[in-house]
Parts: sequence; structure tokens; C-alpha cells
Amino acid sequence: MKDLRTALEQRRRDGLYRSRRIAASPQLPGRRIDGRDCLSFCSNDYLGLAAHPQVVAALQAGAQRWGVGSGAAHLLAGHTAAHHALEEALADFVGAPRALLFSTGYMANLGVMAALPGRLFQDRLNHASLLDGARISGARLVRYAHLDMQDLQRRLAAAPAGERLIASDGVFSMDGDLAPVVELQALARTHAAWLLLDDAHGLGVRGEQGRGSLAQAGITPGNDVILMGTLGKALGTFGAFVAGSEDLIETLIQQARSYVYTTAPPAAVAEAALAALRLCREEGWRRERLQALIGRFRTGAEQLGLPLMASATPIQPLLIGDTGAATRLSEALEDAGILVPAIRPPTVPEGAARLRVSFSAAHEEAQVDRLLDALGSVIKG
Ligand SMILES: *Cc1c(COP(=O)(O)O)cnc(C)c1O
Repeated sequence: MKDLRTALEQRRRDGLYRSRRIAASPQLPGRRIDGRDCLSFCSNDYLGLAAHPQVVAALQAGAQRWGVGSGAAHLLAGHTAAHHALEEALADFVGAPRALLFSTGYMANLGVMAALPGRLFQDRLNHASLLDGARISGARLVRYAHLDMQDLQRRLAAAPAGERLIASDGVFSMDGDLAPVVELQALARTHAAWLLLDDAHGLGVRGEQGRGSLAQAGITPGNDVILMGTLGKALGTFGAFVAGSEDLIETLIQQARSYVYTTAPPAAVAEAALAALRLCREEGWRRERLQALIGRFRTGAEQLGLPLMASATPIQPLLIGDTGAATRLSEALEDAGILVPAIRPPTVPEGAARLRVSFSAAHEEAQVDRLLDALGSVIKG
């Protein structure tokens, strides 16, 4: 039997040990965590909807109406009018013929890849769920250099004829940079490939009304373009969806194992997501505020000479490099009551450890300034 303890101890010595904090308050910038009040810059609740009173009220009313458990998979008896209304609202939101709810984004990515045959082309820095989807589907995986469309083109041209799928994050989760969506779509067309855009970090944040990275580029899902969006990030709730053509969605309903063989999410959560989607569409000030906070942070960080990366999104990493150094900086910030996670290998490449700052419309300017002050003193000493 493998000695788990030895492996765990080695992991700790390497500074790669992962452990959880215990929060005693909702997902807000000011949080009680591990018995202590702190200022958090580590959520994906970009629009500040996770604890919004209207979203909470929709969940409560939903539980009154539907109970808690959905009690079955969508294809058995778990699919309610609330799930269905959410699918229709999401399709309308992103301008797609249809949308299909999944329990999580991880499962949505697995489902699409398992249902579509052929060779997979993926950006080297894609989210783990896209890479795992490739593994589970058993398809040949070709990884191209990050954002490098020439490399992708070469690899597409060199591949034998047959079905292909290009998959990319819309906003890269550890770098905050953007996929060249227009070029990706053009390459997909030229090489008769599907394009799957995982917009977990773009939906709600980018494009008019927060319709996401495809909308920002003037592209709608359908035909050969597939959108995967999540509800657990900017939409502040839980779950995910795939949007695309009628035939794609029907194929997923028949064949996506991570859709067929799992319990439908609670209908009350679908009601909450509908409320969050309404707020996302109607309250453009949340996106404006987020952009203003990002601008304030970048200006301040530049003045301090902090190692900013090329990101215009709420994901604002500071590239530290050494894993131990990133961990120590994160701990020093925590001592000052500020939570900013250190992201270490294997989540990012060796030598590219970083502090990953993320912003929410729920942050205040003074909180951004407090973060800058703390970063200045821990990084610059
Ligand atoms: C968070 C995330 C997912 C997974 O979504 P969940 O709903 O949390 O399972 C997929 N892709 C990307 C890029 C993500 O950031």
C-alpha cells in the first residue's frame, strides 16, 4: 500500500500543501474567516450577487415552492419549470438557439467533450476541467501555445481530416488575459472545427449586459460555436450551462454522461439564478464599478512597481515566480488581515507562482487602497 503520510509530508516540505479555511460569514469582501475578520480578494463573485437580498429571497421563495431536493436527474423527474425557465432566459441572454443546464461547469465541460467525437485542440493554459474532459473522452489532445494562433493553425493543418473541437477559456482563470475569440472562430471555420468557449470568468463581466466574451466579439453561440457559462461566479449562485444549436443541445441531452447520470440541481437554485441574471442584465453600474476598481488597482500597483500581468479583467495576478516567496507573501498579507491566495504549481507552471487578486463590484475604493498599502509594504519590504 502506498504511504500517503510520506507523500503528504513531502508536499508540505515543497510548499505545495493545500488546506481549507473556514468561513463563518457570507461571500462578501469583509469576511469572518478562521475566527478572524478579514478583507477578502479571493472570490469569483465579480458582481457582488452571491449574498444579494433579491437573490437570497428568490432562493427562499423557491424552496417554499419546490422544496429542496430535485429528487431525480433531469431526464427522469428532476427537470422543473424553474430549470426550464432558466434555460430559456440564459439562451435569450447569450443569443443562442438553446441552452442546457448542468450541475457545475466542470461537468458541463466533461459533457460537451464526451458527446462530441474527434480530435481536441486546447490552449495550454486552459482550465483543468477542459483538460480533464479531454482525458475522459479519450480523444486525441493537441495543446497549442497560450494564445498563439499561428501555433494552433499549424497544428490544425497538420492533423488528419475528421471531426475536431477547439476549446479555450474566454478569460484565463489564473492570468486574467483574453482569448482571441474572433481569430479562434475564423480558424475553426477554416478547419471545419467546433469552437467551445469556456467563459466562466467572462460571463456577467464582459460584453453588453454582461453577455460575455463572445458577445463582446460580436459572435453568438449556435452552429459551430458552443458557449459554456457558469452560474457560480459573476452570477453569484451555482451551476452552469452550455449554449448552442438545437442539435447540439439535443445531442447533449442524449449523450452527455455528466448530464444524464446526475441529480438535477435544486429548482430553488434555478430561481435564485434567474433573479441574479435579472440583476446582471439590469444593473450595468456593477460592471462599471468593477472596471473603476480594476483601474484604481492597476494605477496604484504601477506606481508601486508591483509585478502586474497583462489583464484588464477582475483577475489581477501579481507574478512572483518562486513558490515559497509567493506563499510567504500571501501569509504576510493574511497577518495584515487581507486574504489574497498564492497560486502555485501545478495550477500554474513551475516558476510562475503568483498572488491572485480578484475584485468584486462589492469592494469599496478604500478597500482597494488598503490592499495596495499592504502589498506595497509586504512586497517592497
Ligand atoms: C470555475 C471554472 C470552471 C468550473 O465551473 P464550476 O461551476 O465551478 O464547476 C470551468 N472553467 C473555468 C475556466 C473556470 O474558471
